[in-house]
Amino acid sequence: MLTVMKFGGSSVADLEHIRNVANRCIAKQREGSQVVVVLSAMGKTTDNLIATAKQITEQPSRRELDMLLTTGEQVSVSLMAMTLISMGVSAVSLNAWQVPMHTTSNYQNARFKRIDSERIRKELDANKIVIVTGFQGINKYEDITTLGRGGSDTTAVALAAELHADVCEIYTDVDGVYTADPRVVPNAHKMTEITYDEMLEMASLGAKVLHSRCVEIAKKYGVELLVCSSLNHNSGTIVREKTKMEKMLISGVAADKNVAKIRVAGLGNEPNSTFRLLNLLDKNKLNIDVMIQSLGKDGTKSVSFTVTKSDMLRALDLLNENKDYLGIKKLDSDENVAKVSVIGAGIRSHSGVAAKMFGALASIDVNTEMVTTSEIRITALIDEAYADLAVRKLHETFFD
Ligand code: ADP
Ligand code: ASP
Ligand code: MG
Repeated sequence: MLTVMKFGGSSVADLEHIRNVANRCIAKQREGSQVVVVLSAMGKTTDNLIATAKQITEQPSRRELDMLLTTGEQVSVSLMAMTLISMGVSAVSLNAWQVPMHTTSNYQNARFKRIDSERIRKELDANKIVIVTGFQGINKYEDITTLGRGGSDTTAVALAAELHADVCEIYTDVDGVYTADPRVVPNAHKMTEITYDEMLEMASLGAKVLHSRCVEIAKKYGVELLVCSSLNHNSGTIVREKTKMEKMLISGVAADKNVAKIRVAGLGNEPNSTFRLLNLLDKNKLNIDVMIQSLGKDGTKSVSFTVTKSDMLRALDLLNENKDYLGIKKLDSDENVAKVSVIGAGIRSHSGVAAKMFGALASIDVNTEMVTTSEIRITALIDEAYADLAVRKLHETFFD
Protein backbone atom coordinates (compact mmCIF):
# COMPACT_ATOMS: atom_id res chain seq x y z
CA MET A 1 0.00 0.00 0.00
CA LEU A 2 1.31 3.46 -0.90
CA THR A 3 -0.34 6.72 0.09
CA VAL A 4 0.51 10.23 -1.06
CA MET A 5 -0.57 12.78 1.55
CA LYS A 6 -0.49 16.49 0.70
CA PHE A 7 -0.75 19.25 3.30
CA GLY A 8 -1.40 22.89 2.38
CA GLY A 9 0.08 26.03 3.89
CA SER A 10 -2.41 26.42 6.75
CA SER A 11 -1.81 22.79 7.78
CA VAL A 12 1.91 23.47 8.30
CA ALA A 13 1.60 27.10 9.46
CA ASP A 14 3.82 26.66 12.55
CA LEU A 15 5.76 24.00 14.44
CA GLU A 16 2.68 22.84 16.34
CA HIS A 17 0.82 22.24 13.08
CA ILE A 18 3.89 20.49 11.69
CA ARG A 19 3.89 18.13 14.66
CA ASN A 20 0.21 17.43 14.09
CA VAL A 21 0.93 16.56 10.44
CA ALA A 22 3.88 14.42 11.49
CA ASN A 23 1.58 12.42 13.78
CA ARG A 24 -0.87 11.84 10.96
CA CYS A 25 1.90 10.61 8.69
CA ILE A 26 3.21 8.26 11.36
CA ALA A 27 -0.30 6.90 11.93
CA LYS A 28 -0.62 6.21 8.21
CA GLN A 29 2.70 4.37 8.18
CA ARG A 30 1.64 2.31 11.21
CA GLU A 31 -1.51 1.29 9.30
CA GLY A 32 0.91 -0.45 6.95
CA SER A 33 1.25 2.05 4.12
CA GLN A 34 4.36 3.52 2.57
CA VAL A 35 4.01 7.29 2.86
CA VAL A 36 5.02 10.09 0.50
CA VAL A 37 4.21 13.54 1.87
CA VAL A 38 3.94 16.67 -0.26
CA LEU A 39 4.03 20.01 1.51
CA SER A 40 3.26 23.63 0.66
CA ALA A 41 5.12 26.56 2.17
CA MET A 42 4.19 27.47 5.75
CA GLY A 43 1.14 29.71 6.21
CA LYS A 44 1.32 32.88 4.14
CA THR A 45 4.99 32.45 3.20
CA THR A 46 4.42 32.51 -0.57
CA ASP A 47 2.25 35.66 -0.37
CA ASN A 48 4.88 37.36 1.77
CA LEU A 49 7.70 36.46 -0.60
CA ILE A 50 5.74 37.87 -3.54
CA ALA A 51 5.03 41.07 -1.59
CA THR A 52 8.73 41.46 -0.81
CA ALA A 53 9.70 41.02 -4.48
CA LYS A 54 7.08 43.60 -5.49
CA GLN A 55 8.73 46.14 -3.22
CA ILE A 56 11.64 45.99 -5.65
CA THR A 57 9.63 46.08 -8.89
CA GLU A 58 6.02 45.61 -10.02
CA GLN A 59 7.16 43.00 -12.55
CA PRO A 60 10.00 40.96 -11.07
CA SER A 61 11.98 38.64 -13.36
CA ARG A 62 9.92 35.48 -13.63
CA ARG A 63 12.96 33.26 -13.27
CA GLU A 64 14.10 35.02 -10.13
CA LEU A 65 10.60 34.98 -8.67
CA ASP A 66 10.53 31.19 -9.01
CA MET A 67 13.95 30.99 -7.40
CA LEU A 68 12.55 33.00 -4.49
CA LEU A 69 9.18 31.30 -4.09
CA THR A 70 10.52 27.76 -4.07
CA THR A 71 12.46 28.53 -0.89
CA GLY A 72 9.13 28.41 1.00
CA GLU A 73 8.54 24.71 0.33
CA GLN A 74 12.15 23.88 1.11
CA VAL A 75 11.69 25.32 4.60
CA SER A 76 8.56 23.31 5.37
CA VAL A 77 9.86 19.94 4.09
CA SER A 78 13.10 20.16 6.04
CA LEU A 79 11.31 21.17 9.25
CA MET A 80 8.90 18.26 8.77
CA ALA A 81 11.74 15.79 8.29
CA MET A 82 13.49 17.12 11.40
CA THR A 83 10.27 16.80 13.38
CA LEU A 84 9.74 13.19 12.29
CA ILE A 85 13.35 12.26 12.97
CA SER A 86 13.11 13.86 16.43
CA MET A 87 10.08 11.63 17.05
CA GLY A 88 12.20 8.59 16.25
CA VAL A 89 10.85 7.99 12.73
CA SER A 90 13.06 7.68 9.64
CA ALA A 91 12.33 10.47 7.20
CA VAL A 92 13.99 12.36 4.38
CA SER A 93 13.07 15.58 2.59
CA LEU A 94 13.63 16.02 -1.16
CA ASN A 95 13.30 19.05 -3.41
CA ALA A 96 12.56 19.14 -7.16
CA TRP A 97 16.23 18.64 -8.05
CA GLN A 98 16.70 15.68 -5.81
CA VAL A 99 13.64 13.73 -6.98
CA PRO A 100 13.99 14.99 -9.84
CA MET A 101 10.74 16.46 -11.21
CA HIS A 102 11.05 17.85 -14.76
CA THR A 103 8.72 20.55 -16.06
CA THR A 104 8.20 22.70 -19.14
CA SER A 105 10.36 25.80 -19.26
CA ASN A 106 7.85 28.55 -18.49
CA TYR A 107 8.49 30.09 -15.12
CA GLN A 108 5.50 30.79 -12.84
CA ASN A 109 3.25 28.41 -14.71
CA ALA A 110 5.27 25.30 -15.57
CA ARG A 111 3.76 21.86 -16.21
CA PHE A 112 5.18 18.48 -15.32
CA LYS A 113 6.80 16.57 -18.16
CA ARG A 114 8.44 13.69 -16.34
CA ILE A 115 9.14 12.58 -12.80
CA ASP A 116 11.88 10.06 -12.02
CA SER A 117 10.71 7.99 -9.10
CA GLU A 118 13.87 5.96 -8.50
CA ARG A 119 15.17 8.04 -5.57
CA ILE A 120 11.77 8.13 -3.86
CA ARG A 121 11.41 4.35 -4.28
CA LYS A 122 14.83 3.81 -2.79
CA GLU A 123 14.01 5.94 0.26
CA LEU A 124 10.63 4.23 0.70
CA ASP A 125 12.28 0.84 0.53
CA ALA A 126 14.60 2.00 3.32
CA ASN A 127 11.42 2.47 5.36
CA LYS A 128 11.52 6.25 5.35
CA ILE A 129 8.67 8.70 5.17
CA VAL A 130 9.57 10.73 2.07
CA ILE A 131 8.70 14.42 2.18
CA VAL A 132 8.69 16.25 -1.15
CA THR A 133 8.48 19.98 -1.89
CA GLY A 134 5.21 20.85 -3.61
CA PHE A 135 4.80 23.53 -6.28
CA GLN A 136 8.29 23.26 -7.83
CA GLY A 137 10.10 21.61 -10.72
CA ILE A 138 13.20 21.97 -12.86
CA ASN A 139 13.37 22.87 -16.53
CA LYS A 140 15.69 22.17 -19.46
CA TYR A 141 17.81 25.22 -18.62
CA GLU A 142 18.54 23.61 -15.25
CA ASP A 143 16.49 26.31 -13.58
CA ILE A 144 13.88 25.91 -10.90
CA THR A 145 10.25 26.54 -11.92
CA THR A 146 6.90 26.82 -10.15
CA LEU A 147 3.57 25.35 -11.18
CA GLY A 148 1.32 28.36 -10.51
CA ARG A 149 -0.37 29.32 -7.24
CA GLY A 150 -1.85 26.35 -5.46
CA GLY A 151 0.39 24.01 -7.46
CA SER A 152 1.35 21.68 -4.60
CA ASP A 153 -1.87 19.75 -5.20
CA THR A 154 -0.56 19.02 -8.68
CA THR A 155 2.79 17.80 -7.34
CA ALA A 156 0.93 15.37 -5.08
CA VAL A 157 -1.27 13.97 -7.83
CA ALA A 158 1.58 13.73 -10.34
CA LEU A 159 3.63 11.79 -7.79
CA ALA A 160 0.66 9.57 -6.98
CA ALA A 161 0.27 8.80 -10.71
CA GLU A 162 3.98 8.13 -11.18
CA LEU A 163 4.24 5.91 -8.10
CA HIS A 164 0.89 4.14 -8.77
CA ALA A 165 -0.20 5.15 -5.27
CA ASP A 166 -3.38 3.55 -3.94
CA VAL A 167 -4.79 6.92 -2.97
CA CYS A 168 -3.86 10.60 -2.96
CA GLU A 169 -5.11 12.43 0.11
CA ILE A 170 -5.29 16.22 -0.01
CA TYR A 171 -5.40 17.64 3.52
CA THR A 172 -6.49 21.25 3.85
CA ASP A 173 -8.28 23.68 6.18
CA VAL A 174 -11.80 22.62 5.17
CA ASP A 175 -13.11 19.06 5.45
CA GLY A 176 -14.04 18.53 1.81
CA VAL A 177 -15.40 20.03 -1.36
CA TYR A 178 -18.54 22.07 -0.77
CA THR A 179 -21.26 23.32 -3.09
CA ALA A 180 -19.62 26.76 -2.74
CA ASP A 181 -16.70 28.20 -0.77
CA PRO A 182 -17.85 27.57 2.83
CA ARG A 183 -16.11 30.79 3.91
CA VAL A 184 -18.39 32.78 1.63
CA VAL A 185 -21.54 30.65 1.90
CA PRO A 186 -21.72 29.36 5.49
CA ASN A 187 -24.58 26.96 4.71
CA ALA A 188 -22.92 25.37 1.66
CA HIS A 189 -23.20 21.55 1.66
CA LYS A 190 -20.28 19.17 1.77
CA MET A 191 -20.26 16.67 -1.11
CA THR A 192 -19.46 13.03 -0.34
CA GLU A 193 -18.32 12.48 -3.91
CA ILE A 194 -17.79 14.52 -7.06
CA THR A 195 -16.71 13.49 -10.57
CA TYR A 196 -13.42 14.59 -12.10
CA ASP A 197 -15.31 16.59 -14.74
CA GLU A 198 -17.38 18.55 -12.26
CA MET A 199 -14.38 19.09 -9.98
CA LEU A 200 -12.34 20.28 -12.93
CA GLU A 201 -14.94 22.90 -13.76
CA MET A 202 -15.24 23.97 -10.10
CA ALA A 203 -11.45 24.25 -9.72
CA SER A 204 -10.82 26.07 -12.96
CA LEU A 205 -13.65 28.49 -12.18
CA GLY A 206 -12.20 29.56 -8.87
CA ALA A 207 -12.87 26.89 -6.21
CA LYS A 208 -9.26 26.94 -5.08
CA VAL A 209 -9.67 23.92 -2.80
CA LEU A 210 -7.93 21.97 -5.62
CA HIS A 211 -5.51 23.21 -8.29
CA SER A 212 -7.29 22.55 -11.59
CA ARG A 213 -4.24 20.94 -13.23
CA CYS A 214 -4.18 18.32 -10.46
CA VAL A 215 -7.71 17.28 -11.35
CA GLU A 216 -6.71 16.93 -15.02
CA ILE A 217 -3.83 14.64 -14.07
CA ALA A 218 -6.00 12.66 -11.64
CA LYS A 219 -8.57 12.08 -14.39
CA LYS A 220 -5.97 11.14 -16.98
CA TYR A 221 -4.25 8.57 -14.78
CA GLY A 222 -7.29 7.49 -12.75
CA VAL A 223 -5.89 8.68 -9.41
CA GLU A 224 -8.61 8.70 -6.78
CA LEU A 225 -8.47 11.84 -4.63
CA LEU A 226 -9.69 12.32 -1.09
CA VAL A 227 -10.07 15.93 0.05
CA CYS A 228 -10.23 16.21 3.84
CA SER A 229 -9.17 18.29 6.82
CA SER A 230 -5.79 18.11 8.56
CA LEU A 231 -7.45 19.38 11.74
CA ASN A 232 -10.17 16.78 12.29
CA HIS A 233 -11.13 13.27 11.18
CA ASN A 234 -14.39 14.09 9.39
CA SER A 235 -15.02 12.05 6.26
CA GLY A 236 -13.96 14.16 3.28
CA THR A 237 -14.93 14.29 -0.39
CA ILE A 238 -13.87 11.65 -2.91
CA VAL A 239 -13.08 12.81 -6.44
CA ARG A 240 -13.37 10.03 -9.02
CA GLU A 241 -14.57 9.19 -12.55
CA LYS A 242 -18.07 8.05 -11.65
CA THR A 243 -20.03 8.67 -8.49
CA LYS A 244 -22.67 6.47 -6.93
CA MET A 245 -24.77 9.43 -5.94
CA GLU A 246 -27.63 10.44 -8.16
CA LYS A 247 -26.58 13.34 -10.36
CA MET A 248 -27.49 16.73 -8.98
CA LEU A 249 -28.75 19.23 -11.51
CA ILE A 250 -26.26 21.77 -10.18
CA SER A 251 -23.19 20.65 -8.29
CA GLY A 252 -21.76 23.97 -7.23
CA VAL A 253 -21.27 27.71 -7.47
CA ALA A 254 -17.80 29.27 -7.75
CA ALA A 255 -16.22 32.69 -8.05
CA ASP A 256 -12.80 33.67 -9.35
CA LYS A 257 -11.50 37.09 -8.38
CA ASN A 258 -8.11 36.61 -9.98
CA VAL A 259 -9.39 38.01 -13.25
CA ALA A 260 -8.77 41.16 -15.29
CA LYS A 261 -10.46 42.25 -18.48
CA ILE A 262 -8.71 43.67 -21.53
CA ARG A 263 -10.41 45.21 -24.54
CA VAL A 264 -8.74 45.95 -27.84
CA ALA A 265 -10.73 47.95 -30.36
CA GLY A 266 -10.32 49.16 -33.91
CA LEU A 267 -8.97 45.92 -35.39
CA GLY A 268 -9.44 45.43 -39.12
CA ASN A 269 -12.50 43.37 -40.04
CA GLU A 270 -10.55 40.56 -41.70
CA PRO A 271 -9.73 36.98 -40.58
CA ASN A 272 -6.09 37.62 -39.81
CA SER A 273 -6.60 40.36 -37.22
CA THR A 274 -8.03 38.10 -34.49
CA PHE A 275 -5.56 35.37 -35.34
CA ARG A 276 -2.58 37.73 -35.01
CA LEU A 277 -3.80 38.94 -31.63
CA LEU A 278 -4.41 35.47 -30.18
CA ASN A 279 -1.24 34.07 -31.66
CA LEU A 280 0.88 36.82 -30.13
CA LEU A 281 -0.69 36.26 -26.69
CA ASP A 282 -0.19 32.52 -27.01
CA LYS A 283 3.46 32.84 -28.13
CA ASN A 284 4.08 34.86 -24.98
CA LYS A 285 2.41 32.22 -22.80
CA LEU A 286 -0.46 34.49 -21.85
CA ASN A 287 -3.54 32.36 -21.25
CA ILE A 288 -6.76 34.06 -22.12
CA ASP A 289 -10.08 32.93 -20.82
CA VAL A 290 -13.54 34.33 -21.49
CA MET A 291 -13.47 36.07 -24.87
CA ILE A 292 -15.97 37.94 -27.00
CA GLN A 293 -15.62 39.64 -30.32
CA SER A 294 -17.97 42.20 -31.78
CA LEU A 295 -18.25 44.40 -34.83
CA GLY A 296 -18.54 48.16 -34.29
CA LYS A 297 -20.69 50.55 -36.32
CA ASP A 298 -17.52 51.82 -37.98
CA GLY A 299 -16.84 48.32 -39.32
CA THR A 300 -13.89 47.56 -37.02
CA LYS A 301 -13.60 44.57 -34.72
CA SER A 302 -13.25 44.77 -31.01
CA VAL A 303 -12.10 41.85 -28.90
CA SER A 304 -12.50 41.60 -25.13
CA PHE A 305 -10.93 38.83 -23.10
CA THR A 306 -9.86 38.01 -19.58
CA VAL A 307 -6.45 37.12 -18.18
CA THR A 308 -5.35 36.56 -14.59
CA LYS A 309 -4.72 39.74 -12.60
CA SER A 310 -1.06 38.80 -12.32
CA ASP A 311 -0.73 38.64 -16.13
CA MET A 312 -2.51 41.92 -16.84
CA LEU A 313 0.47 44.31 -16.88
CA ARG A 314 2.51 41.92 -18.99
CA ALA A 315 -0.37 41.56 -21.47
CA LEU A 316 -0.87 45.33 -21.71
CA ASP A 317 2.86 45.93 -22.27
CA LEU A 318 2.90 43.32 -25.01
CA LEU A 319 -0.17 44.76 -26.75
CA ASN A 320 1.20 48.30 -26.54
CA GLU A 321 4.51 47.21 -28.04
CA ASN A 322 2.61 45.55 -30.91
CA LYS A 323 -0.09 48.17 -31.42
CA ASP A 324 0.85 48.91 -35.03
CA TYR A 325 1.44 45.30 -36.01
CA LEU A 326 -1.97 44.30 -34.62
CA GLY A 327 -3.74 47.45 -35.81
CA ILE A 328 -5.07 48.34 -32.36
CA LYS A 329 -6.73 51.76 -32.18
CA LYS A 330 -7.86 51.59 -28.57
CA LEU A 331 -6.75 49.52 -25.62
CA ASP A 332 -8.30 49.49 -22.17
CA SER A 333 -8.40 47.25 -19.14
CA ASP A 334 -10.33 46.67 -15.93
CA GLU A 335 -8.94 44.89 -12.90
CA ASN A 336 -12.08 45.09 -10.81
CA VAL A 337 -13.92 42.16 -12.30
CA ALA A 338 -14.67 38.61 -11.17
CA LYS A 339 -16.13 35.52 -12.77
CA VAL A 340 -19.09 33.82 -11.14
CA SER A 341 -20.16 30.40 -12.35
CA VAL A 342 -22.85 27.82 -11.84
CA ILE A 343 -21.60 24.28 -12.48
CA GLY A 344 -23.48 21.03 -12.96
CA ALA A 345 -23.85 18.04 -15.23
CA GLY A 346 -27.56 18.77 -15.38
CA ILE A 347 -27.08 22.00 -17.30
CA ARG A 348 -26.82 20.15 -20.61
CA SER A 349 -30.19 18.51 -20.23
CA HIS A 350 -32.20 21.16 -18.41
CA SER A 351 -33.21 24.37 -20.05
CA GLY A 352 -33.86 27.28 -17.79
CA VAL A 353 -30.68 27.22 -15.68
CA ALA A 354 -29.35 30.32 -17.45
CA ALA A 355 -32.63 32.19 -17.03
CA LYS A 356 -32.69 31.29 -13.35
CA MET A 357 -29.05 32.39 -12.93
CA PHE A 358 -29.48 35.75 -14.63
CA GLY A 359 -32.79 36.28 -12.82
CA ALA A 360 -31.01 35.77 -9.49
CA LEU A 361 -28.25 38.22 -10.42
CA ALA A 362 -30.80 40.77 -11.64
CA SER A 363 -32.74 40.48 -8.37
CA ILE A 364 -29.70 41.81 -6.50
CA ASP A 365 -28.98 44.37 -9.21
CA VAL A 366 -25.74 42.79 -10.39
CA ASN A 367 -25.02 43.45 -14.06
CA THR A 368 -23.21 40.91 -16.22
CA GLU A 369 -20.54 41.84 -18.77
CA MET A 370 -19.27 38.82 -20.67
CA VAL A 371 -20.90 35.41 -20.56
CA THR A 372 -19.69 31.96 -21.59
CA THR A 373 -21.30 28.58 -21.32
CA SER A 374 -20.32 24.95 -21.75
CA GLU A 375 -22.40 21.80 -21.42
CA ILE A 376 -21.84 21.81 -17.68
CA ARG A 377 -21.35 25.42 -16.65
CA ILE A 378 -22.48 29.00 -17.12
CA THR A 379 -20.03 31.81 -16.33
CA ALA A 380 -20.63 35.55 -16.13
CA LEU A 381 -18.16 38.36 -15.65
CA ILE A 382 -19.32 40.85 -13.03
CA ASP A 383 -18.00 43.72 -10.88
CA GLU A 384 -15.58 42.19 -8.38
CA ALA A 385 -17.16 44.08 -5.48
CA TYR A 386 -20.31 41.97 -5.85
CA ALA A 387 -18.66 38.56 -6.25
CA ASP A 388 -19.39 37.21 -2.75
CA LEU A 389 -22.91 38.62 -2.76
CA ALA A 390 -23.56 37.01 -6.15
CA VAL A 391 -22.23 33.63 -5.00
CA ARG A 392 -24.50 33.70 -1.93
CA LYS A 393 -27.52 34.63 -4.04
CA LEU A 394 -26.79 31.94 -6.66
CA HIS A 395 -26.28 29.32 -3.97
CA GLU A 396 -29.55 30.27 -2.32
CA THR A 397 -31.33 30.14 -5.69
CA PHE A 398 -30.05 26.70 -6.70
CA PHE A 399 -29.67 24.92 -3.36
CA ASP A 400 -32.09 26.29 -0.76
P1 ADP B 1 -4.32 24.72 1.05
O1 ADP B 1 -3.41 25.78 1.60
O2 ADP B 1 -4.55 23.60 1.99
O3 ADP B 1 -3.91 24.28 -0.31
P2 ADP B 1 -6.32 26.45 -0.11
O4 ADP B 1 -6.47 27.75 0.56
O5 ADP B 1 -5.56 26.41 -1.38
O6 ADP B 1 -5.75 25.41 0.95
O7 ADP B 1 -7.75 25.79 -0.40
C1 ADP B 1 -8.67 25.65 0.65
C2 ADP B 1 -9.68 26.78 0.60
O8 ADP B 1 -10.46 26.67 -0.58
C3 ADP B 1 -10.70 26.75 1.71
O9 ADP B 1 -10.21 27.42 2.86
C4 ADP B 1 -11.91 27.43 1.09
O10 ADP B 1 -12.07 28.75 1.55
C5 ADP B 1 -11.60 27.48 -0.39
N1 ADP B 1 -12.69 26.98 -1.24
C6 ADP B 1 -13.16 27.62 -2.34
N2 ADP B 1 -14.17 26.96 -2.89
C7 ADP B 1 -14.36 25.85 -2.15
C8 ADP B 1 -15.28 24.75 -2.21
N3 ADP B 1 -16.20 24.66 -3.19
N4 ADP B 1 -15.21 23.78 -1.28
C9 ADP B 1 -14.26 23.85 -0.30
N5 ADP B 1 -13.38 24.87 -0.17
C10 ADP B 1 -13.42 25.86 -1.07
N1 ASP C 1 2.96 27.68 -1.75
C1 ASP C 1 2.34 27.76 -3.04
C2 ASP C 1 1.23 28.80 -3.05
O1 ASP C 1 0.98 29.41 -2.01
C3 ASP C 1 1.84 26.43 -3.53
C4 ASP C 1 0.68 25.84 -2.78
O2 ASP C 1 0.34 26.29 -1.69
O3 ASP C 1 0.09 24.89 -3.29
O4 ASP C 1 0.65 29.03 -4.05
MG1 MG D 1 -4.19 25.08 -2.22
